[in-house]
Amino acid sequence: MNVADSERTVTSLRASGYEMTDRADQADVILLNTCSVRDRAEQKVFNRFGEIRRKSKSQAVYGVMGCVAQLEGDSFFDRAPYLNFIAGTRATDRIPLLIREIRRGRRRVSDYGEREAGERRDILPGERHAQHVAFIPIVEGCNKFCTYCIVPYSRGRERSRVAWEILEEVRALISNGYQEIQLIGQNVNSYRPKDERGLEGFSGATPFSRLLRAVAATGIPRIKYTTSFPRDFHADIIAAMDEHENLCNWVHLPVQSGSDRVLRAMRRGYTVMDYFKRISYIKHARRRYALTSDLIVGFPGETDEDFEETVKLVERCQYDSLYLFKYSKRPRTPAAKLTDEVPEEKKTVRFRLLEEVQSKIQARIFAGYLDRHLEVLVEGLSAKSKGDLTGHSTCNKVINFPGDSRLVGSILRVKVTAVKSHSLYGSLVS
Ligand code: SAH
Ligand code: SF4
Repeated sequence: MNVADSERTVTSLRASGYEMTDRADQADVILLNTCSVRDRAEQKVFNRFGEIRRKSKSQAVYGVMGCVAQLEGDSFFDRAPYLNFIAGTRATDRIPLLIREIRRGRRRVSDYGEREAGERRDILPGERHAQHVAFIPIVEGCNKFCTYCIVPYSRGRERSRVAWEILEEVRALISNGYQEIQLIGQNVNSYRPKDERGLEGFSGATPFSRLLRAVAATGIPRIKYTTSFPRDFHADIIAAMDEHENLCNWVHLPVQSGSDRVLRAMRRGYTVMDYFKRISYIKHARRRYALTSDLIVGFPGETDEDFEETVKLVERCQYDSLYLFKYSKRPRTPAAKLTDEVPEEKKTVRFRLLEEVQSKIQARIFAGYLDRHLEVLVEGLSAKSKGDLTGHSTCNKVINFPGDSRLVGSILRVKVTAVKSHSLYGSLVS
């Protein structure tokens, strides 16, 4: 979501006549985009500004945007006196106006307002983070208020984009040669636009499954989406995926914990049994869908028994990959008031144990890909090994293989010849 916000900001800055540079010593304006989901978010921002300020022009204008900006508010000015402007999470399109105010002589300005009616997200092709894969936010914000999470506070209430605008964006991407889009949102399944123009004629029990079918009908070769929220993950989503080959075979369904007690304390709104029901839709689908998840260890009050339940869940779900996080206290969230914190060392022990459990599962799943042919979108040259190309399969595995740089941007069949812990290696099938 932050990458998508940066793309949007750069587009509006260019429209106002700015040029981009990644050299701090040449920049007249320096803007940091920030995330506050985990860890010491504010400190990271101060450290980064510290590094940049050593290299930058003495007259440079400094700004901060994103979640940390939204949450810190004007107190940021006191802690970072060199800062000139603060743009909240919904102020991306007004950043050129903030800079204009500073250039006209104001010392400090901030904007924590909502998006304005009629604001559109028109990203110039050159401003996308990649040339062949594009992010399309479909829902912003979140209404779930899981007790550990800062997102509802940093990004506000849920707002869904109207479907016709999303479909227009997809069509523009197709004509610009994009091969893959990723529909993004904190909870894409709760997509609920104010009006459903663009979705007429598409079947589905929820607006999200209608949107999936509508996007699939544009003919874009690959569609992925993230993140799904277990409670809102209906069988109809899998039905839509089964119908359309271009809806890729990957589902990211974060579980967070395998203990009902912890799930209740997290206020996730589902039980382990509810979650397994969702998993069964996926496991009984027509195609094999890769399944991935997020998990938090060390939520306050998590006992050894709770953790054992989580290990059992991981063994049962057989995830293709798993994003593990140590619980990180976020000021202002309800969980921050809980006193029965899990000591850091215990979090580390649990984290490592789960890592081990998952790595065995993953090794087995990845080994199953040996000698198989995968459809790979070639995204670029491998950063690690010279002469190799890198890309993702439809099941979202990273795969590297030897090949010519002219192949970047195409979708090719690759035979898996070797398996690593987090990626596959292969050779082109002629
Ligand atoms: N909307 C998505 C996730 C958004 S944040 C969902 O509900 O699944 C991405 C991941 O960061 C979460 O899935 C969670 O595992 C992790 N996360 C969020 N807040 C956290 C916190 N306070 N401490 C540790 N991990 C956290
Ligand atoms: Fe955070 Fe929960 Fe919303 Fe995900 S669903 S963004 S974890 S509050």
